[in-house]
Amino acid sequence: MVISPYRLQLKHPFKISDFSRTDTPIVFIRLEENGIYGYGECSMPPYLGESIETATSFFSKVDVNLLDLNNLTASLNYIDGLDFNNNAAKAAMDLALHDLKLKTEKTTLHKYFESDPTLMPMSTFTLGIDELDIMKEKVKEAKEFKRLKIKLGTDHDIEIIRSIRSISDKSIVVDANRGWKTKEHAIHMMDFLKEQNCLLVEQPLELNQLEDMYWLKQRSEIPLIADESCKRLADISNIKDCFDGINIKLMKSTGLNEAYKMIKLARELQLKVMIGCMSESSCAILAAAALAPLCDFADLDSPWMVTNNPFETPNLLDGKIQLTNHEGIGCQLIQQNLFD
Ligand code: MG
Repeated sequence: MVISPYRLQLKHPFKISDFSRTDTPIVFIRLEENGIYGYGECSMPPYLGESIETATSFFSKVDVNLLDLNNLTASLNYIDGLDFNNNAAKAAMDLALHDLKLKTEKTTLHKYFESDPTLMPMSTFTLGIDELDIMKEKVKEAKEFKRLKIKLGTDHDIEIIRSIRSISDKSIVVDANRGWKTKEHAIHMMDFLKEQNCLLVEQPLELNQLEDMYWLKQRSEIPLIADESCKRLADISNIKDCFDGINIKLMKSTGLNEAYKMIKLARELQLKVMIGCMSESSCAILAAAALAPLCDFADLDSPWMVTNNPFETPNLLDGKIQLTNHEGIGCQLIQQNLFD
């Protein structure tokens, strides 16, 4: 296994309700079998607690001789059992194993998961919190995308929405990132957003406000989606009565294998499913995009927000990521010295 620490540079500083950054620490990994390479990555926005150091330390514990492409379940159980947390680092292993296995079998990720590329949902393009003029500029930059995701949780949220609505009538989704402090404020915002062609609201309240979320769910006419409140499969049962759906991210779920199980369980529970990202390169974005046709909403925009993506940017058509017939994840390395 070869690893490559990296910093994915953002075109614009990215701000959410309680955090700002200009780049994202990444570790790319490469597994090899018989001259075939499988790629994976972990993306680690600092507030989540993982770093290049923790990921590198995690990878040093992996004995690649114990990985078996013919038994992915056992291999991924072994990876998961190596340490607590490290969900992003585990996701990198999961991605590289899937990529290598499917390249070896000469098939694609979307075929492996029986995901129909023609059912690809539109992806949103995310606008971080910024000066209103800069947010308007970003709306213009997002012209290839048909839906906008707007980060809220400020003291001037209504002004932000009105400002965007003054120049765009695209449908929007809102992510409050736990930034609304009371259920009364949250329902006030939800009622306002319903009038603004808002399709859903992500994570309005803090993780410990589940009773308030239940209250909000009874009253809201817009679907409420759990993000920070739902990381892995086991979290779904805790939050299923308090949200209308979940936002699955590979970096939270430890990768594709568990993300797929989360989609299945959410469907059984009649929960809506969104698939999102955490400032990844095209490697993890194309992996998530292979699952996106099984989901209701996609938020897979990071390749369009960075300046040094070492993999080719996917094609976008009518605001939808186009899956290809490239084997494995389908990511095409353009920075040939990434693993030198
Ligand atoms: Mg979110």
